[in-house]
Amino acid sequence: MKINTQAALAKSTPLAPFTYEAKPLLHDQVAIKITHCGICHSDLHLINNDWGNSSYPLVPGHEIVGTVAELGESVKHFKIGQRVGVGWQCWSCGHCEWCMAGEENLCPKQQATCIGNFGGYADTIQVNNRFVFPIPDSLSSAAVAPLLCGGATVYAPLRRFVNYPGQRVAILGIGGLGHLAIQFANALGCDVTAISTSANKKAEAEKLGAHHFLVESDEAALKQANNSFDLILSTVSQPIHWENYLKLLRPKGVLCCVGAPPAAISFPIFSLILERKSIAGSNIASPHIINAMLKFAALHNIGAVVETLPMSEVNTALDKVRNNQARYRMVLINS
Ligand code: NAP
Ligand code: ZN
Repeated sequence: MKINTQAALAKSTPLAPFTYEAKPLLHDQVAIKITHCGICHSDLHLINNDWGNSSYPLVPGHEIVGTVAELGESVKHFKIGQRVGVGWQCWSCGHCEWCMAGEENLCPKQQATCIGNFGGYADTIQVNNRFVFPIPDSLSSAAVAPLLCGGATVYAPLRRFVNYPGQRVAILGIGGLGHLAIQFANALGCDVTAISTSANKKAEAEKLGAHHFLVESDEAALKQANNSFDLILSTVSQPIHWENYLKLLRPKGVLCCVGAPPAAISFPIFSLILERKSIAGSNIASPHIINAMLKFAALHNIGAVVETLPMSEVNTALDKVRNNQARYRMVLINS
C-alpha cells in the first residue's frame, strides 16, 4: 500500500507531496485512515531542525484523528471504522520502570510519531495500539485533533501543579497550546490570567475562560502583577526574557515550561533562591493521562478553536502558524 503525504524534503523547505510504501502491519499496530491533523508548532521546529534531531524527508503531523482501517492480529479492543486519535508519542519499550509505572512519556526508548517515523500530514498511518486513543463521541474531529498533543501537553502539568480551587495560574502565550490551557485551567477551578504579546487576543482569551489578561508590552501592568502567580505555564515558542516572568511568581511559585524555544534559558540565580521559586518542564502526557484529558474535555466541552484547510494547502496553514496568525489551531483535512 502506498501512503501519500506532505513532506519537507530538506531543512526549512516548503512541504511537497511525498509517497512511501507502507510496511506490513505489525500484530500490535492499528492502521488509521487520517481525516484530520492539527499543526503544532513542534512541526515547524522539526521542519526547521530547530532542535537538531530532524531527518529528511520529514513528514510532520502528530495531532491525528481518523478511523481504524485495519487491525493487527493481536489488537482486539478497537473496531474497524472506529474514530481514534494519535499524538506525539507512537512507541515505548513497555518494560522499563517508567513504562511499568504508566509514565511511558518518560521511557528512554520512546519514539515520536514524526521523528524517525513518517507522521500525520498523510492519508494513512500505522501506529502501536498503546498510543491510539478512542475519541469521545461529543467532540468534533477538528476540535479534538489538537487535544492529542497540545491539549495533553497543557493538561498534564495543570494536573501536576494545581492543588486547590482559586489557585492563581498564568498562561504565557495564547496560541494553540495556550488557548487550550486557558480552557483546562478554568475548568479546573483556577483564577486564570492570560499573558500575551498580542493585545487583540483579549476578548477571545476572556471568552475561553481567562479571568484577567495582560499584554507583555504593558510594563506597568506586568509590574503590578509581580508576586501574584502560583504557576506560570509557558507555551511560548520563541525565546523571551525569563527573569521578567520569574518576578511574577509568588514565593514557592513554579514556572513550568512546555513551550520549547530553540535557545537556552538564562536568569540570575537569586530570582529563584530568595523566594524558593522553581522552574519545571513537562513533556506531552502519558497514555492514561491522555485518555483522562479526553474524558475531561468531553465533560467540560473543551475543544480547540480551529481554522481548517485541505491537506494540499499545508504550506498556507504552516505560514499562518509561523506568523502567529492562526486563531488558534490550524487543522488539515483530508477530503
Ligand atoms: P503556537 O500556536 O505558534 O503558539 C505559540 C504562542 O507563543 C504564540 O501564539 C504567541 O502567543 C507566543 N509567541 C510567539 N512568538 C513569541 C515571542 N517572540 N515572544 C513571546 N511570545 C511569543 O505554538 P504551539 O503549537 O502552541 O506550541 C508552543 C510551543 O510548545 C512550541 O515551542 C512547541 O514546540 C511546544 N510544544 C511542546 C510540547 C511538550 O511536550 N513540551 C508539546 C507540544 C508543543 P501570543 O500571541 O499570545 O503572545
Ligand atoms: Zn505537538
